[in-house]
Amino acid sequence: MNCQPWLKALVYNCTNINHSCSLCSALAEQRYPLCIACEQALPWLDEYCLRCALPLPMAGLICAQCSRRPPAYDQVVAPWHYGFPLDTLISRFKHNNQWPLGRLMAELLGLNLHHRYQEGMPRPDLLLPVPLARRRLRERGFNQAAMLGRWLSKALLIKCEERLLLRTRETPAQQHLDARARRHNLRRAFALADQASLKGRHVAVIDDVLTTGTTAQAIAQLLRQAGARRIDVYCLARTAKPGQA
Ligand SMILES: [Zn+2]
Ligand SMILES: [Zn+2]
Repeated sequence: MNCQPWLKALVYNCTNINHSCSLCSALAEQRYPLCIACEQALPWLDEYCLRCALPLPMAGLICAQCSRRPPAYDQVVAPWHYGFPLDTLISRFKHNNQWPLGRLMAELLGLNLHHRYQEGMPRPDLLLPVPLARRRLRERGFNQAAMLGRWLSKALLIKCEERLLLRTRETPAQQHLDARARRHNLRRAFALADQASLKGRHVAVIDDVLTTGTTAQAIAQLLRQAGARRIDVYCLARTAKPGQA
């Protein structure tokens, strides 16, 4: 086979890297539809609490809250701050059914996780998406955490189990509640379809955004009671403490 430049260009164009960028429409020139400039402009979370991924001014620390009262989960993985433009992308995925954006973020989260596994972070046996309340599922038509779980499952070759973790009660939306009210709201909101299957397992709970961590905490307590050995939480973005940038 000869190596004419035009042939190289043809091969290049045929190997699925001629996407346009989902954010600026420029040629992406990557395996996924995001150009390098837009990727660099995403609010990457570099310095965070080693337990709950809360943004911190320095890397390698545990935040005051996790030191005082260690959470029931072992580690939160979040590649980004919940800031512009990621907040907009997540909102378009959740509320405007823009699934390709969700898929793109899941792909980047998958790459991030893959990199961390190579650096020694243990791989879970199972992915468990946070279930959506039935009424919200009816309104939205899909569970964004379950979709992220399916995409991650394909990318990481880890089983995603959507019917193990259940929502037992309708809970009012969490957004406008303080931490105490959230905890109260979430008590007994979740259940496991099969307790025994969790014994000794390493699981990763999947959600889109981690805000106060109250949902993750409620689920992790449940999984811990069922004998899970290690519980991680994988999400797209982590918010700062209320009132912080
Ligand atoms: Zn771009
Ligand atoms: Zn923390």
